[in-house]
Amino acid sequence: MHYIILDLEWNQSPAGKKGEVPGLPFEIIEIGAVKLNEQKQFVDQFHKLIAPAVYKKLHHQICRVLNRTIEDFRAGLSFPDAVREFLDWCGEDFYFCTWGTMDLPELQRNMQYFQIPISFPRPFLYYDIQKLFGIAFEDRKIPRTLEYATDYLSIQKTEPFHNALCDARYAALVLLRLETALIRSNYSIDCYLPPRNRKEEIYAVFGTYSKYISREFDTREKVLSDKEVTSTRCYLCGRPARKKIRWFSSNNRHYFCQCYCENHGWMKGKITIKQSEANKYFAIKILKLVTAEEANLIKQKQELLRKKRRLRRNQKKSITM
Ligand SMILES: [Zn+2]
Repeated sequence: MHYIILDLEWNQSPAGKKGEVPGLPFEIIEIGAVKLNEQKQFVDQFHKLIAPAVYKKLHHQICRVLNRTIEDFRAGLSFPDAVREFLDWCGEDFYFCTWGTMDLPELQRNMQYFQIPISFPRPFLYYDIQKLFGIAFEDRKIPRTLEYATDYLSIQKTEPFHNALCDARYAALVLLRLETALIRSNYSIDCYLPPRNRKEEIYAVFGTYSKYISREFDTREKVLSDKEVTSTRCYLCGRPARKKIRWFSSNNRHYFCQCYCENHGWMKGKITIKQSEANKYFAIKILKLVTAEEANLIKQKQELLRKKRRLRRNQKKSITM
C-alpha cells in the first residue's frame, strides 16, 4: 500500500461567473504528488503542468496566488494525458492524501468534463491531512492553511507555496508527523459520486460518532421519507435509539434530532442533504453519543426555532390586520 499525497492547482474563468463554462468551474492546470510507502518512506514524486484548454487566461487572483503566468503552463500536457500518466504512476494499491476536501472532487469533475472514465473504488476513502492535523494538534478547531501547519510544526520553508509539487511535499512532511494509528482511524470519504444503490450505501464508525451516506434520490422529500435515512440505530450496540425529539430543520438542508439508547445514553443526530453532480439528492447522517447537557442543546435549538416561527407568524398577522 502507498500513500499518494496529491495537490492540484486550478484556474477559473478570468471573466468571473459570467464566463464560466458549465461543468467546469475550475480547470486543473498542475498536478503534484508524492508517493510514500506503508512505513511512510519516500518512494517517488510526480509533477506535471497542464496546458489550459478551456480558460486560456489566468484569473487575476489565481495569477497572484500561483505567482506564475499563463506562459508557464502553455507548454504543459493536455489534461487527459497528464491525468493518465498520473494514474499510471499511482499504481494499484494506494490511498490519496490531500490538504482539505477540494482536490478529489475537482479531479473527478475535470475527468468527467474531459470524458475520462472514473474508476476509483467505492466507497472512495482518502486521508484529509488538514483534518488530521486539526485532530492531532488543535482538537479539531478551525481548518488551517498548509503554511500554518508547517509553521506550527517548525518545518523548514525552503520552497514556495502554491506550486503543486511543493505543496504536496509540505503536506507529506505534515503527514510524517502524524501517528499511523491516528491517520488510519480518521479516514475521510469522498462523495463526489455518491452511492448508486442501497448496497453501496456507507456506514462508518469513528471513535465518537458514526457516519451514514445514503444513495441518491430524485427529490429532497424522497430522501427524508426513506426509513434508513431517518433511522437512529445506536452505532455501538445496533439497537434502535428512541427519538425524544424528531428530525426538525431550520433551512431544509440540515436536520437535527435527539434520541436515547437504553445501553449507551443520549445521542444527537444530524442529517445534511446534499445535491449530487447528477442533480439528485443524498443524505449524510451523523449520530454522536453526547452528554445530557449536549443533548439538551438540541431541545433549546428546537425551542428557539419555534419561537422565531411564532414571532414571524404574528408579525405577518399584524401586517395583514
Ligand atoms: Zn447503544
